[in-house]
Amino acid sequence: MTATPHFVPRQVLLEPDALGYPLGQELWDRFRAMGVPVAMLPPHRRIPVRRGLPARAAFLEAKRTLVVAVRRQLDFAGCRPSAHYQLPLASSCPGLCQYCYLFTTLGKRPYVRVYVNLEEILDRATALVDGRLPEETSFEGSATSDPVAIESYTGSLARAVEHFAGLPRASLRFATKYPPPRALLQARHRGRTRIRFSVNPPALVERFERGTPDLETRLRAARQAREAGYPIGFLVAPIMATEGWQDEYRQLIRSLAGSLGDHPGLTFELITHRFTARAKARIGELFPGAGLPMDEAEREFRWGQFGYGKYVYPGPLRREMGAVLEKAIAGSFPSATVLYTV
Ligand code: SF4
Repeated sequence: MTATPHFVPRQVLLEPDALGYPLGQELWDRFRAMGVPVAMLPPHRRIPVRRGLPARAAFLEAKRTLVVAVRRQLDFAGCRPSAHYQLPLASSCPGLCQYCYLFTTLGKRPYVRVYVNLEEILDRATALVDGRLPEETSFEGSATSDPVAIESYTGSLARAVEHFAGLPRASLRFATKYPPPRALLQARHRGRTRIRFSVNPPALVERFERGTPDLETRLRAARQAREAGYPIGFLVAPIMATEGWQDEYRQLIRSLAGSLGDHPGLTFELITHRFTARAKARIGELFPGAGLPMDEAEREFRWGQFGYGKYVYPGPLRREMGAVLEKAIAGSFPSATVLYTV
């Protein structure tokens, strides 16, 4: 846990019982040594809030606050279609991607939260795997966070990777925009964890993915993960039909190929941009005038599986987006697999 952190919180808040776990104690000591203000939450664990802050200021304050917590809810949520279960190691992340779906799921103050009762969480995962044997069970580590952004503090992913390497018929996957620290690269993974790097053309990264590493850094990280023997993949998301998108995405795939070259086992997941009415209102509040394309008149409304609707690109455009990318991928990465296009 000595790598350079991607994120230095402005303040750290600890739940009192987090100190009863080695990781809680370690984080307490580490942040105090770094000179970051560290405070203990009251026994009811409610986070004191400054009332009257404008929405964006409250949001940014939360994004710069690290909460060190004990995960009490050990019933893991499902994660279809990408995995059987979510693996809850953390929630939120320091990134400021304008389209992030966590804006509407983590409330007005999306504190960056890490869970210190890692062994209890992993024991629960083991029980779920055992309960499904001889079926394979998969876990998604990035359903509520980009866990790599805070990995240099917690080491939780490296621990989870080694745990899953030792379980029969179990696998872990997570997606990230951040470079894995050395300890994660060196974890004994036995090929049971897949790391997917989230990518987009540089112009979109610059405009809409503030607070995250640039494309070049992500590609370097992907090369390092592959050299460390991890199965890797790319999550091209969210694909946006902005001016000149066809050329920008073709160029993106050429950049990936130039950086990594083709190799068997590489996977792609292609996700076109979509938004809910609630997300649009929230994004307007947090990033006024930021220009994320969200004109309902240019979209098609679709009811989703969770009982609310989303605005997606119209079918013909969605199909064209998929076709342009799949063709570019087939040309540059003949051995790769496109897992899905949505
Ligand atoms: Fe959201 Fe991922 Fe961006 Fe973090 S890196 S803000 S989790 S989209």
